[in-house]
Amino acid sequence: MNPSTAGACLAAGLALYGNVKTETISGYAEFRRGDTVIVEGQRVLATSTTKVKGAKRIADIPLGYEVKASGQRNASGVLIAQQIEAKANSTGGTEQQVIAASNEAEQTWVKEGMMFEPADSGKITKIGDLLESGPYVTRARRIMDRLRPSYLPASALRVRVVKTDQWNASAMANGAIWVFSGLMDAMDDDELAIVLGHELTHFTHEHVRRQMSKGTVAQILGTGASIATSQIKNSTAQQVAAFGGQLGLSALMTGYSREYEDQADRVGLRYVYEAGFDPTKGPGLWEKFKQKYGETDKITNFFTGDHSRPTERIHNLQRQIQLNYTTPAPPPPKRE
Ligand SMILES: [Zn+2]
Repeated sequence: MNPSTAGACLAAGLALYGNVKTETISGYAEFRRGDTVIVEGQRVLATSTTKVKGAKRIADIPLGYEVKASGQRNASGVLIAQQIEAKANSTGGTEQQVIAASNEAEQTWVKEGMMFEPADSGKITKIGDLLESGPYVTRARRIMDRLRPSYLPASALRVRVVKTDQWNASAMANGAIWVFSGLMDAMDDDELAIVLGHELTHFTHEHVRRQMSKGTVAQILGTGASIATSQIKNSTAQQVAAFGGQLGLSALMTGYSREYEDQADRVGLRYVYEAGFDPTKGPGLWEKFKQKYGETDKITNFFTGDHSRPTERIHNLQRQIQLNYTTPAPPPPKRE
């Protein structure tokens, strides 16, 4: 790689003005610490010259609002904003459809007491029994409740544990978060917080809705469903097929793009840090995944997604730790 090519790689996603890089981040205002607002896991600070759209001042932006901020990082990793745009988080018609489909899937699994998916043969493939109470459920829900940003009510989330040795976790658009007991056995509380923080980000940052084009949703709720229903004889599996079919189930729970997987890693670390868990265990967690499943996971894995590989994620997490988490978190701010 010649030096000019290397420069182009480093500048990806950044606009260059002279020697100063302007960086743009898009996410939600999620925490406030003094004058600093946290957006997409990053600390954003306004100055007297910052242009703020959608609010009078940065301090007036309600937590939970969608925010786009551009500016330059200072030496300690804070983004000094030149421009900030804030707007209320809106709910689209498509989102309602996806949430309804997710509710149906969740309710079917809860009613049957297990997670399963329809298979090509017309039978179902059982993934594992659902645990609705006991130490696994208590532990997962206790950690998730600490991670939850203040603008999100506790009632928005339902953490459910699936009894299986596999390592996996996933989030649905309706706030149902699934975690497998095998993964919980292998992780300490800090590591489990990193996994759950990642999944929580898929929900708070609305990745299901953002990833689906309207055409995809129509396919999931229409054609895909009718094909699957006609293939499946088992009545329980038919119910699953009715909400999404074989195409739909995977689209409801997995298949996030690299962009969203990386965002979930970044923002998830922020949740972990703000809740008083240890974000520096992120790279080690991915080492564990690499040892267990290798660099390229052949099995579709909800948690690992299709694109970002462990080595790449370790690198990205190390950069986040260096930018944002070299000092231990002060006590969590009171919930608003
Ligand atoms: Zn993910």
